[in-house]
Amino acid sequence: MSETTKFLLDEKRIPEAWYNIQADLAEPLPPVIHPGTGQPIGPDDLAPLFPMALIGQEVSQERWIEIPDPIREVYRLWRPTPLYRARRLERVLDTPAHIYYKYEGVSPVGSHKPNTAIAQAFYNREEGIRALTTETGAGQWGSSLALACSFFDMSCEVYMVKVSYTQKPYRRSIMRAFGADVYASPSERTNAGRSILEQAPDSPGSLGIAISEAVEVAATSGGTKKYSLGSVLNHVLMHQTVIGLEALEQFEQAGEYPDVAIGCAGGGSNFAGFALPFVRNNIVEGKSTRIVAAEPTACPTLTKGSYLYDFGDTAATTPLIKMFTLGHSFIPAPVHAGGLRYHGMAPIVSALHDRGLIEAVAATQNAVFDAAVQFARAEAILPAPEAAHAIKVAIDEALRAKEEGESRVIAFNLSGHGHFDMGAYDEYFAGNLPDFEYDAEEVEKAIAGLSA
Ligand SMILES: *Cc1c(COP(=O)(O)O)cnc(C)c1O
Repeated sequence: MSETTKFLLDEKRIPEAWYNIQADLAEPLPPVIHPGTGQPIGPDDLAPLFPMALIGQEVSQERWIEIPDPIREVYRLWRPTPLYRARRLERVLDTPAHIYYKYEGVSPVGSHKPNTAIAQAFYNREEGIRALTTETGAGQWGSSLALACSFFDMSCEVYMVKVSYTQKPYRRSIMRAFGADVYASPSERTNAGRSILEQAPDSPGSLGIAISEAVEVAATSGGTKKYSLGSVLNHVLMHQTVIGLEALEQFEQAGEYPDVAIGCAGGGSNFAGFALPFVRNNIVEGKSTRIVAAEPTACPTLTKGSYLYDFGDTAATTPLIKMFTLGHSFIPAPVHAGGLRYHGMAPIVSALHDRGLIEAVAATQNAVFDAAVQFARAEAILPAPEAAHAIKVAIDEALRAKEEGESRVIAFNLSGHGHFDMGAYDEYFAGNLPDFEYDAEEVEKAIAGLSA
């Protein structure tokens, strides 16, 4: 077994329950606040947007939540996903470290996102909902929800960040192939979109703006359409824990355990899905894996943001969430890792960072693409630009291990492939990729007035 490259699990080993880290936190998460009343929100406040089952999962303190059979049945199409030992990358780097990656790009749309899309469509359909609205950045989430809606016979309306709508036309085509309607955001279809366009007709859009539009459409639908979010929320992160739970078993097969676990973090869902089971073992079983979130310098939410109550969307219509944020009015530069262009961060990931249970690192765009290409030439998988942030950090860790002459086990989540990001690769090969930094003054302005 010493040369094993892929650690595979049988379909029977698809997890039977999701892991809810809320059960293992020493202190509960700060409450989500209603901006009008200043009081914690209740289920009734969320009911116009989400089905009751998901609202229940959002606040549940149960450690394990059973995965319904119809969801596990769909998971069988691509789960369990492989855990790879990156033997060829180790050789190229000439490092004593052992590098592993969990590959979520084997899903039908090429990323981790269907893990929660399937679950969300299922629970909505169970409660009689026939239409979902959502936003999408690079198009990964939109295609995941479009796929999920087609499985459960629902319609799907997607607001796609304009810069990606232009850069990634084939993601649009996939969504349409699964039957979804796709609009460039900001759009003329909503008050939120029209008001942004009035102030900034050339706005490249942002996830925050697209969220405002999708939420508005659901909230004003008279209960016929609900809203679905691809990241950030507690239930979304929980659905993604199938990644880390499978990885734990695969590491057992490999006879190793990670010293470092890395994931890229936009809203935080793939990072959390991979890392939370390891965080649990740190908290509950006395393990000491370093858990590292990787983000772009253009949108450095964890490394440069502040832990404050902020809105989840740009139009300031959502409840107030305590999270690391760059301010809801902050519009990040158009880096190609569209999925990492979000001003905030999941409350769970934010709380873990605030409590010193995880670390965060930011990387510049060209360094990330250098890492992506180095990885592709060794491991033959062309990563999504988002996932390449995790690769960059993993390579740096492996080189540090080499410098220190120490073997260690480095694990990262490869959240998706980059087959729909070839325009970005072309720009990189042409030497035209800007290395965006964030604007500290803009962030200062954007967080002014937010409270802790
Ligand atoms: C959407 C996406 C991300 C970022 O979202 P998270 O919720 O932070 O995981 C990362 N990688 C890929 C491939 C994505 O599609």
